[in-house]
Amino acid sequence: MPDTAISVGQIYLACPVSDGSRRIRIESYAPGDARAEVVDADSGKRPRQILVTQLHSSPLTEYGRPRRNGYAIDTGPTTWRIKRSFSRAFPWEWACTATVTTGPQTRQCSANGLGRTPQDVRHGAEQHTRATHPELVKDGADQ
Ligand SMILES: [Zn+2]
Repeated sequence: MPDTAISVGQIYLACPVSDGSRRIRIESYAPGDARAEVVDADSGKRPRQILVTQLHSSPLTEYGRPRRNGYAIDTGPTTWRIKRSFSRAFPWEWACTATVTTGPQTRQCSANGLGRTPQDVRHGAEQHTRATHPELVKDGADQ
């Protein structure tokens, strides 16, 4: 079982994660499958299958050490996700999943947006996060 909820459109970074990590994107996956179809995230090329046991929810192991192999999901500096949209012109969608606390009430942020490419929507999600949830932006992330 993979330790992450895999879905189409997600970006994963090759471990150990660094600024230059190779990025792959999930193109096709059915829950329960042993393999997912992926492509290089930036070019959309090199379609291939990888074992889902190589996909992880964190670049760190359960002992807090950097993973030396496999792939870690690229969640950006905070919690949002990227997926396919229903729009032909803007086939990608980001959705904020941050938790917003207002006084005694806690709810999930419902912000979202569309873009032409995964990079576009990632940018939109990052802008939203900086503007709306500055407390969730890690120090020094994405200068
Ligand atoms: Zn938000």
